[in-house]
Amino acid sequence: QEEIVIIGAGQAGAQVAQSLRQGGFEGPLRLIGDEPHLPYQRPPLSKKYLAGEIEADSLLLRPPAFFSANDIDLVPGNRVVSIDRGTKRLRLENGDTLPYGKLVLATGTHARSLRIEGADKQGVLTLRSIADVDSIRERLANSTRVAIIGAGYIGLEVAAVARGLGKEVSVIEAQDRPMKRVVSETMSAFFTTLHRSKGIDLRLNTGIEAIEGNGEVTGVRLASGETVPAGLVLIAVGAEPNDGLAAEAGVEVDNGILVDGSGQTSDPDIYAAGDCTRFYSNRYKRSVRMESVQNAIDQAKIVAQALVGQDVDYDPLPWFWSDQYDIKLQIAGLSDGYDDTVVVGSPEDHKFYVAYLKAGQLIAVDSINAPRSHMMARRVIGETWREGLLPEA
Ligand code: FAD
Repeated sequence: QEEIVIIGAGQAGAQVAQSLRQGGFEGPLRLIGDEPHLPYQRPPLSKKYLAGEIEADSLLLRPPAFFSANDIDLVPGNRVVSIDRGTKRLRLENGDTLPYGKLVLATGTHARSLRIEGADKQGVLTLRSIADVDSIRERLANSTRVAIIGAGYIGLEVAAVARGLGKEVSVIEAQDRPMKRVVSETMSAFFTTLHRSKGIDLRLNTGIEAIEGNGEVTGVRLASGETVPAGLVLIAVGAEPNDGLAAEAGVEVDNGILVDGSGQTSDPDIYAAGDCTRFYSNRYKRSVRMESVQNAIDQAKIVAQALVGQDVDYDPLPWFWSDQYDIKLQIAGLSDGYDDTVVVGSPEDHKFYVAYLKAGQLIAVDSINAPRSHMMARRVIGETWREGLLPEA
């Protein structure tokens, strides 16, 4: 069997490798990653790992022995800098070149940067990797005030942890409500109240002028002219797909590497899985790019199945979670395009869910501390589940 090479040793890359072996692939298999670590999970980075409650070792997705036991040639600390599709060879940062038979791109995303004066000052950080959190923790230990730009999941999770460590925390958001891109007004209102009740200075509808400081960051100057003082500024304004390697090789991309239902790109010898991909969802009748563990794992399994010759078609029901303080938000389905919502349970008691309906049909459920409702929602969304059949929170 011809050699399969996977670029990106994260959640999706590790899963492709494992599923290939489980699916009976016996040929040479190489997994190349540019981080110094074995494949690890990112969700705890902004939660327990940032809080110092767990060690880096417990983030590992598979024990070190797994890779040798499965004859997976893991190459950490190596960045692939180019793909030559004509000769089917890769070039690594250290100048080496490697052949491939089939290639899988599992390169993930990078944190979006802010083009703003002062964004290059010491103490202005983003969060994507173990290395990023280690820098944040070091800085956090010596700062009493933290400013977080962006009230998305990662910004709010970090706010909750920093507050738990006794820091004065400001969260600055340009939109009129937190997590606007992904949850309804009801859910945003719940999180606004939650964070403010914990003492977070959450500023909505707030533009930023510059990041201030003399080499080292000292604060964030708002559009109003006011300065929010901070010894650490976290920029948490979303992520962008690592699709440049594919684009430079002439593989089709459009804010994500374009793949079909089998994970195949515009080059039949190149597949892609995880955060770096964009695909057409029949379920949602539009192209989607997901950033979730669910998508990384499920799409990786599909790619592995396709590579061993199975007939597959990927159209997942997306799900996601976020932990903030003692609150567990769980999301089943994509809620955009809803025309009605039903709230079941009690936001005041921190146990409820919001069901999103479109033309009378359930399309998504966001739940708070209601894991059973979440699991049930995952089962029934997509089937005909109508108003009146909603269970207790
Ligand atoms: P990644 O896990 O990012 O792996 C990609 C790997 O490829 C990286 O190691 C990258 O360095 C490497 N790479 C890129 N380019 C190259 C190259 N040219 N050569 C070699 N290697 C390369 N999801 C949830 O579902 N729930 C959560 O609660 C949640 N919380 C999160 C919290 C944080 C702080 C972050 C950052 C993400 C969170 N996510 C969460 C998202 C989830 O972690 C991602 O969706 C998932 O990791 C995607 O897997 P992936 O393999 O596509 O990408």
